[in-house]
Amino acid sequence: MAERACRHCMRLLEGQTCLICGTSDLAEEWSGLVIILDAERSEIAKKLGVDIPDRFALKVR
Ligand SMILES: [Zn+2]
Repeated sequence: MAERACRHCMRLLEGQTCLICGTSDLAEEWSGLVIILDAERSEIAKKLGVDIPDRFALKVR
């Protein structure tokens, strides 16, 4: 799969670095796609500690 998951914020991205964390600590293997549309109202977003609408992985290796 082309997308990688940031190990810090669990955000899915296609580049080499996470724009939020500025880290290149990315996992190529991840599972559990979560799409956050409204971070302020989403229970999952709160669990993940997410405050921006984006797509996230539930688990990364
Ligand atoms: Zn990140």
